[in-house]
Amino acid sequence: MGIETNWAGNVSYRAAAVVRPRTRDELDRALATPGPLRPLGSRHSFSTIADTTGTLIDLGAMPAVVEQTAPDAVRVSGGIRYGELGAELHRRGLALSNLASLPHISVAGAVSTGTHGSGDAIGSLATAVRAVTLAGPDGERTLRRGDPDFAGAVVSLGALGLMVELELDVEPTYDVAQTVHEGPAWDALLAEFDRVTALGTSVSVFSRWTDRDRADQLWIKNRADGAALDEALLARLGTTPATVARHPILGAPAEACTRQLGEAGPWHERLPHFRFAFTPSAGEELQSEYLVPRRDAVRAIEAVRRLSDRIAPLLLVNEIRTVAADDLWLSSSYGEPAVGLHFTWRRDQPAVEALLPAIEAALPDTARPHWGKVSTLDPAELRRRYPRWDDFAALVGRMDPAGRFRNAYLERLGL
Ligand SMILES: Cc1cc2nc3c(=O)[nH]c(=O)nc-3n(C[C@H](O)[C@H](O)[C@H](O)COP(=O)(O)OP(=O)(O)OC[C@H]3O[C@@H](n4cnc5c(N)ncnc54)[C@H](O)[C@@H]3O)c2cc1C
Repeated sequence: MGIETNWAGNVSYRAAAVVRPRTRDELDRALATPGPLRPLGSRHSFSTIADTTGTLIDLGAMPAVVEQTAPDAVRVSGGIRYGELGAELHRRGLALSNLASLPHISVAGAVSTGTHGSGDAIGSLATAVRAVTLAGPDGERTLRRGDPDFAGAVVSLGALGLMVELELDVEPTYDVAQTVHEGPAWDALLAEFDRVTALGTSVSVFSRWTDRDRADQLWIKNRADGAALDEALLARLGTTPATVARHPILGAPAEACTRQLGEAGPWHERLPHFRFAFTPSAGEELQSEYLVPRRDAVRAIEAVRRLSDRIAPLLLVNEIRTVAADDLWLSSSYGEPAVGLHFTWRRDQPAVEALLPAIEAALPDTARPHWGKVSTLDPAELRRRYPRWDDFAALVGRMDPAGRFRNAYLERLGL
């Protein structure tokens, strides 16, 4: 076996084997392997969350399932990627309410880490889950929304077994139009932050922090049946509409990006920033993200702004976006709406890890790091920021008493 790595190449898995079952029998044989086990998705995490010294089980080769179970629900296989699922749902006249910036990630992997897109009124991708079927060496178990442990079993870091199937909320398909507005002034943006993030269904602010006075771009994705753009607010921000398609990194070629310039199209081809047929993002990169309660967002952005001289040399782009509150125990928007401060870094891990403690110390002490991205926050401090932490630890103890799905990442967290 050659060296198997994550998508970014910054994590070389220490697994003794990576298996890709194609049938239920092959999956059962994989689950019967002695020693540590770990689910593997599409490998888009930058942290060591998916690593193990035992056997990695990748569901990507299992048959893709998309089965409508109710007018507003579908059952899907855990290994299916959002790009494939989105196209199939749209073909059937259906849609999800939200997507992340790229459609290449697997549903189970994204849900397990609390992956999110942007939108004041829309939750993380995990909030669409209404049931999850988890498989382990001792069989499988389905937890449904409303069951006592359900809220702990969705964003569950791969700690409870393999999500072989999930049931997701769907709605009738819809169109989205995307526009880009360049050069919003930070002072005006922060003064009217709540109005800015309400400019569309899904809003992102991109900045390379080379300019402390102006962000680079405001991306607004609006449902075609939504309200017209608030031009007066855009004028107060001092933006100019982009007249060519843009990449989140201002100036980078935009052919991998979803259609902009206000051209309406299906939700699954507009909500992600990147197109499924192209290699996403900048390629050589690392990512970090901290989600702060909305009430702390302006303070958090000001803290990043003060550090911008140190951040800019390592940064490819910073994205600020919003996530609605949910009740999922390990969700970074648990209990309160959140604002994500995301950083796409140049791929220099020692330099990034040297800078992160300064960012983590400057951010409000409510900031929760994204599970799938690079952070250096002390585990004791991290646990303090999740009110349901002890409930999750107890759930891991009940569902995986032998610790078969434990890995070094979970041990460091005390799980
Ligand atoms: C270019 C790029 C853009 C990104 N954009 C966003 C974004 O817009 N928003 C955001 O929030 N994040 C974003 N991310 C981060 C990414 O969405 C998360 O890291 C996500 O977890 C990746 O899913 P995956 O399928 O690759 O999972 P992996 O990285 O393979 O695994 C992640 C975790 O999920 C677990 N897991 C995987 N499959 C299963 C399963 N079947 N059952 C149980 N557990 C499982 C693994 O054990 C591991 O703990 C981005 C990453 C990249 C590389």
